[in-house]
Amino acid sequence: GARFDKPKTTRVIAVANQKGGVGKTTTAVNLAAALAKGGLRVLVIDNDPQGNASTALGIEHRAGTPSIYDAIIEEAPLGDIVQQSDVINGLSCAPATIDLSGAEIELVSLVARENRLRNAVRFHVEQQREAGLPLDYVVIDCPPSLGLLTINAFVAAREVLIPIQCEYYALEGLSQLLKNIDLVRGHLNPDLHVSTILLTMFDKRTNLAREVAEEVREHFAEQTLATAIPRSVRISEAPSYGQTVLTYDAGSTGALAYLEAARELAARATRSGHE
Ligand code: ADP
Ligand code: MG
Repeated sequence: GARFDKPKTTRVIAVANQKGGVGKTTTAVNLAAALAKGGLRVLVIDNDPQGNASTALGIEHRAGTPSIYDAIIEEAPLGDIVQQSDVINGLSCAPATIDLSGAEIELVSLVARENRLRNAVRFHVEQQREAGLPLDYVVIDCPPSLGLLTINAFVAAREVLIPIQCEYYALEGLSQLLKNIDLVRGHLNPDLHVSTILLTMFDKRTNLAREVAEEVREHFAEQTLATAIPRSVRISEAPSYGQTVLTYDAGSTGALAYLEAARELAARATRSGHE
């Protein structure tokens, strides 16, 4: 398959949008799968109590499974939690279990509550590097809110990837999201920035989708990937088989779109100073 350029250091990317159903999880798992199929070492952190990313990657996440909850709340090392994908080489996942649904509230009273995920990620990235298995990408799938779990992702990451669904209310709430990212950059993580915007569920036959895409490209000319992800039944079917679309139907338009988006993302690593 395609080989992507390795970034010089690990790129940590939070996939975020406080709206539900815009394609965060789909984007996180399929981009991660595409990058791994391109020969890179990729860790997906499932940071949503729904555990959808774990499901889509075929990763065990029944109650009681060591999970990202243990890392964030109990300070367990990610190495004790991460599972390798059976299907895609180089792809691993820190799963989320139902435990994580309490974390948002438990975090409130904890010391350094915003830095928990960052500390876990830093330690793991270093450990993997020392073991001679350096991670190229860490992709964090965020819940549909701007609470402490998402804040933890923003502190752990350097980049934010925002999926935008090409429909009527697409841009509603975006200013709130950008304001939160600015706040985190100002107070907790000076490197944080929106590096990438990906148009999802794009239906080029509708005027509305084209208009939304145009508007997003106007506002975010640099960040928006040229590739838009089309609406595709194959993409929506794949998770019910515990698969990404990259393995479920590698030749489908959805798989090819995520592969192309991943190629763009990887190519931008050198351009925007992430070396
Ligand atoms: P989020 O994580 O933002 O809540 P999801 O990635 O779970 O959003 O996507 C919401 C729903 O839309 C899911 O059922 C998913 O399978 C479906 N979906 C996502 N992207 C596409 C696409 N490109 N084509 C068709 N269905 C999609
Ligand atoms: Mg999701």
